[in-house]
Amino acid sequence: MRAELVAVGSELLGPLRADTNTLWLTERLLDAGVEVAVRDTVGDDPELLESVLRAALGRADLVITTGGLGPTADDLTREAAAAALGRRLVRDPAIVESLRARFASFGRAMPSVNEKQGDLIEGAVALDNPRGTAPGQRIEHEGRVLVLLPGPPGEMKPLFATHVLPALEARGRAIRRRVLRIAAMPESQVDELVAPLYRSVENPRTTILGAPGQIELHLVGEGASPEEAEERIESLAVGLRERLPGRIFSEDGRELPAVVGELLVERDLTLAVAESCTGGLLSVRLTDVPGASRFLDRSFVTYSNQSKVDEIGVEPGLLERAGAVSEEVAAAMAAGVRRVAGTSLGIGITGIAGPDGGTDDKPVGLVYIALDSNSGTRVHRALFPGGRGRVRFQATQIALEILRRALLGLGPL
Ligand code: ATP
Repeated sequence: MRAELVAVGSELLGPLRADTNTLWLTERLLDAGVEVAVRDTVGDDPELLESVLRAALGRADLVITTGGLGPTADDLTREAAAAALGRRLVRDPAIVESLRARFASFGRAMPSVNEKQGDLIEGAVALDNPRGTAPGQRIEHEGRVLVLLPGPPGEMKPLFATHVLPALEARGRAIRRRVLRIAAMPESQVDELVAPLYRSVENPRTTILGAPGQIELHLVGEGASPEEAEERIESLAVGLRERLPGRIFSEDGRELPAVVGELLVERDLTLAVAESCTGGLLSVRLTDVPGASRFLDRSFVTYSNQSKVDEIGVEPGLLERAGAVSEEVAAAMAAGVRRVAGTSLGIGITGIAGPDGGTDDKPVGLVYIALDSNSGTRVHRALFPGGRGRVRFQATQIALEILRRALLGLGPL
């Protein structure tokens, strides 16, 4: 079953107000086994809205609109929907009376503009809206269902939960999602390894999403029950894990710093960090994890040569000989910070984030990442594409992945 969602309201097309209704609806629909195929936002323009609804009703099994059911001249969803269906609007005296009674209960006379909120599309069922004036509407038309819901989230949500969701849940379909995350691999390489497998499977459906330093495989499984949908996902995930051995760092929503933090805590290990080109970004990401004090002892941003000497004991002669951006200095930073802090592990990062400062020998994007532990020092050389922000983020991502692999005994990257 496929749904299309239409958020109505010119205010949603400005920069100040975001459409949150259709995101909320998408989550509820997915849980009930309904896939959302299209989401539109349309201003208060009846002709545009009519054409959007006509197109949606030509494609989807279920079309839901939110907003535009109010009493004012710019609330035009009822009219546009009626036109799209080729049906008339019929004023329901019972609804108008109940609106009048609602106003009377607040000690007010109902303005005449509110009468149009009693207009129902021919053949529609009114959906009672105890929190507001505008009732929702539900219309079946040529095998499709159109639902009109009010815009205020506090009215829209209970109306959907009471009048729409039960019928969807009764269909007995469930959808479940899982995100498999992979760090430090290019998207094309991941895709080459797994595409033949996931393309051969229709349920779950798989989408691959790439971001700097991280690839995500989004699996959406469908079944007659949540358990069956989960089983579908798991049967594909088994194959994906085989093709990406040791590479998937999370299947439960956690990001890499949280995964690494947990591994450190489980093993009762502590970490100290010395950062140059990443300027503290790795430390920020690690301390974003709640309870980071259990595994992170301290961090230094040793940006200048002098600070590398003063804070973590890098030899001045080594800086002169090898240069601040070098395998040797990265190793000395990792070993130095570990020695100063007395931790189980030390990380050193030095590189050229750009846009200036690159040479033929040492181009922009060159980063050395070192890990020092009681089994020695390992240095990884990376050359990242992209601007300053991307280079810095990817460097922290590689550092975390190196750490994760070391903690799991998976060998170097
Ligand atoms: P009312 O009877 O209150 O006028 P309505 O159905 O006409 O209801 P709108 O006038 O379109 O609803 O919207 C009322 C308010 O609801 C908006 O100002 C906004 O705060 C909120 N709203 C509307 N649509 C959305 C949306 N898609 N996402 C989040 N909030 C929304």
